[in-house]
Amino acid sequence: MDLKDLYRDVILDHNKKPRNFGKLEPCDTSADGHNPLCGDRLTLTLRIDGDTVSDVRFEGQGCAISTASASLMTEAIKGLDETAITTLSEMVHRALTSSSDAAIPEGLGKLAALAGVREYPARVKCASLCWHTLTAALARRDGSTAVSTE
Ligand code: ZN
Repeated sequence: MDLKDLYRDVILDHNKKPRNFGKLEPCDTSADGHNPLCGDRLTLTLRIDGDTVSDVRFEGQGCAISTASASLMTEAIKGLDETAITTLSEMVHRALTSSSDAAIPEGLGKLAALAGVREYPARVKCASLCWHTLTAALARRDGSTAVSTE
């Protein structure tokens, strides 16, 4: 099994069995994301303890890549503080937008599966939607106005 098959299996698995699917009620912050290019929609709800995401859920409807990306993201960010989340988000963004022969950044763990999307530039927004939505949710909690996710 080569790396590409492994990545595809991770995406298919998370699309079929999304982790942390649903809604936290009550939650400390939330945001809606919409990717008009594909029609993906998702809502993130988060519980925040001090500076740390203690729990997160997502719900919505979208393509396999947007669903798998949100599922992988919720697993990856639980227990991280905002600084670590910003770092991780930047790494994911680099992995999604680098050229297809560039090395995948170290330390992404299962999120490295998303790097396969860089072969399909039209799908990058599907994979990055949940991360933009997360940024908007965290910014809203900090008292700034909501960020557009488009
Ligand atoms: Zn999509």
